[in-house]
Amino acid sequence: MKKDWKSPRSREQVTAQIPEEYQRRDAETQNRRELTFLLQEAAFSDHIPIYCAIDLTRLSDEERAMFDGFRFTPRGAVVLGQTIRDMFLYAEQDIPGNKGFRPVTAAQLIAENYLMEYREKLEIQGYQTEIIAPEAIPDPTLSAMLAASHKGYAGRNGRFLAGAYGCRVSAGIIVTDAPLMGGDYRFPDVDPADSPCRSCRKCIDACPAGALTGTSFVREKCVNYRNDPAHYSSPGTHTRLKCMACMTACPAE
Ligand code: SF4
Ligand code: SF4
Repeated sequence: MKKDWKSPRSREQVTAQIPEEYQRRDAETQNRRELTFLLQEAAFSDHIPIYCAIDLTRLSDEERAMFDGFRFTPRGAVVLGQTIRDMFLYAEQDIPGNKGFRPVTAAQLIAENYLMEYREKLEIQGYQTEIIAPEAIPDPTLSAMLAASHKGYAGRNGRFLAGAYGCRVSAGIIVTDAPLMGGDYRFPDVDPADSPCRSCRKCIDACPAGALTGTSFVREKCVNYRNDPAHYSSPGTHTRLKCMACMTACPAE
């Protein structure tokens, strides 16, 4: 996540944030550290703006329950994504593939590439993985999983509000049975009680489909609205600019 250069953190603050169990010298902890740093250093050298590892064993029961139901027992997760400043990256385009055209945004493709690349890094070391890639439309389930990183919030618009970036990000998650050190010690964790959604409902008011209620997202209403040709423009062949009002209305940064 983005570093806040205005409020540099002291060595004491950073050290206080690192759980003691990560500082042990046994072989298992050493392996956990090495794997985590390998991923982290790769993400930093690839200049990936949204990166954070999650140690699922340190989550609350409620957070941990979001990671049930995989074909393996997950122990860690890796959040990866791109910041999006140009809304054109959310233009839906028909990309040709093996099974014909696939409607997808550039924002999704960037995040998918990160996720596939880092899945390979884990699988090559013998770990199992599953990817949950972002879509252009809200995904409250994914955004709650991303918020388990404690580096952002699950927004009322069904999108992940990344700490210093707001919801103009395209981020997904790799769930894995690899043991990882959680956190990103460059930045303090956020408190869900400080969510910018506390006193805001701009996304709910902005949604022309009535798909957001503040506590739920009616996917069908959103999809039907966005896919109605009366509700999108086509700046070029195979390109459509569809509704992203719940993102553009969000003041969180
Ligand atoms: S528009 Fe307001 S309520 Fe909606 S996600 Fe953004 S901050 Fe939260
Ligand atoms: S504002 Fe648009 S993209 Fe967001 S939920 Fe409503 S219809 Fe879907």
